[in-house]
Amino acid sequence: MGGKFFFADADSNYSDAAFVIFGAPFDGTSSFRKGSHQAPDAIRKASYNFETYNFNFDIDLSDIPFHDMGDVEIKEKHNVEQALIDVEKTVSTILKDSKIPIMLGGEHSLTLPCVKASKKKFDDMGVVVLDAHLDLRDEYEGEVNSHACVSRHIIEDVTGRYVSIGIRSGTKDEYSLAKAQDITYYPADLVVENGIAFILNKLNGKLDARHLYLSLDMDAIDPAFAPALGTPEPFGLTDRHVLSLIHELAPRSIGFDLVEIAPQFDSGNTALLGAKLIREFIASAWASRQ
Ligand code: MN
Ligand code: MN
Repeated sequence: MGGKFFFADADSNYSDAAFVIFGAPFDGTSSFRKGSHQAPDAIRKASYNFETYNFNFDIDLSDIPFHDMGDVEIKEKHNVEQALIDVEKTVSTILKDSKIPIMLGGEHSLTLPCVKASKKKFDDMGVVVLDAHLDLRDEYEGEVNSHACVSRHIIEDVTGRYVSIGIRSGTKDEYSLAKAQDITYYPADLVVENGIAFILNKLNGKLDARHLYLSLDMDAIDPAFAPALGTPEPFGLTDRHVLSLIHELAPRSIGFDLVEIAPQFDSGNTALLGAKLIREFIASAWASRQ
């Protein structure tokens, strides 16, 4: 594990921690705009902007036992298979120690090993992906483990208990596949028109799971709020939609990741929003246990 500084208020040691943050600085398959390998540290830096006190939950982050173990050492910068193995090992260890893993990506392909490791421990688990993109390709630019294929792998290789929220982009083939295989996705327009309560009601009807794995591809959020992304897509969810989803889903989440921020396109606001959403996830999950 490398890393020079840590997420704000992650003052707990590993053994006492209920949540363990780690960075996965890998963007080897990123297609349009690389850069998410810089995101873990950009998010950590941004995390120092905020008060430790969280008004929403009347809780102080400095009282919550969470730990930042630094970055997973990605041994080969361009070898996605190796990166997936390295991440799966880390997540398996954190789950075995009965803690909640929180991954700072990195690109979205890294969610697959998190979900795989989680499924081994929580067989009934459902997966919720927030994303602009269907990510249902079987390969992209010759790479089967591309970020553009991650939902396809989750559904085919891990679990059909899957929904995605915020969708507004895919190929004709991806939309056809989603229809043919009855893959559940809630388009961004559906969220904007009907609100989060409506979506949560649908989601709970579909995913009758006590345990969820929650993956936030930041491009689910409109580029007006989160401009620094690998593949930005207009007409997205607002920051508040995603905040509400995180508040509601965190209490059931056994793992969380936040991926696809590309900090070199940022004036700071995307990393700030990412750091804030992680803090809200931790606060909500912890408050539900008290
Ligand atoms: Mn994605
Ligand atoms: Mn995406």
